[in-house]
Amino acid sequence: MRIVLMGPPGSGKGTQAKRLADRYGMKHLSSGDIFRAEKSSGSELGKALAKYMDAGQLVPDDVVVEIMAKAITAVDSKRGLLLDGFPRTVAQAEALDRTLAKAGSPLDAVVEIQADDNAIVRRIVGRRSCPACNKVYHTEFMPPKDDKKCDACGAELVQRDDDTEPVVAKRLDTYHQQTEPVMGYYRSRGELPVLTVDGNKDVKDVTADLTDALESLGNV
Ligand code: ADP
Ligand code: AMP
Repeated sequence: MRIVLMGPPGSGKGTQAKRLADRYGMKHLSSGDIFRAEKSSGSELGKALAKYMDAGQLVPDDVVVEIMAKAITAVDSKRGLLLDGFPRTVAQAEALDRTLAKAGSPLDAVVEIQADDNAIVRRIVGRRSCPACNKVYHTEFMPPKDDKKCDACGAELVQRDDDTEPVVAKRLDTYHQQTEPVMGYYRSRGELPVLTVDGNKDVKDVTADLTDALESLGNV
């Protein structure tokens, strides 16, 4: 199955995508993780991406589409695919359709994780991330065993440059203006299942709702 996970920043897409990928053996592709890896490589492209990311703005569509089309095409087509953070504009959604059509493997469903703006700010400001293995924690809701280190690989946890309150406000604004219309684009397609789950619940309850939603489609 090829699934797009939609939802505002901090709604839990990455957390849930990792759990679903483990459960179903799907490939999890996060545009944010791919861009952060490029940023920490120190490349010219990484520096260009960082300008947008650290300001809470979207990276331009042409850059995003080129990077993501390459990443998607590299995934074994027999393997399920979970997209997280891409697409974020209608133009990106159209480009994704073209990439998947070329590969002969169109989207099976879009699943939106909804979460309230005040829950999102609290989640993002408390998020701590492992720069080595991308595992994500929360100071209050999902603390690591050792306050500062990753449970999985022992690396020092960091707060992302864009996980500060002023940048979160900008990212939410960007989401409402540029990414919410993508849901309208998918809903207008008619034949494509578009499902919504309540992301305000506890992590394990959201996972249970997501697995129910995916299994209701069959073929997962
Ligand atoms: P996204 O990928 O949508 O930006 P994340 O999965 O990184 O969101 O989650 C954002 C933060 O909220 C992380 O610190 C994560 O540990 C925490 N989190 C995720 N889901 C929940 C939940 N259901 N309840 C409480 N905290 C959560
Ligand atoms: P995320 O990890 O999904 O919160 O993404 C972090 C940042 O990377 C975003 O705030 C954007 O600056 C950038 N980014 C990630 N995915 C996209 C995308 N599909 N389109 C444009 N910018 C993106």
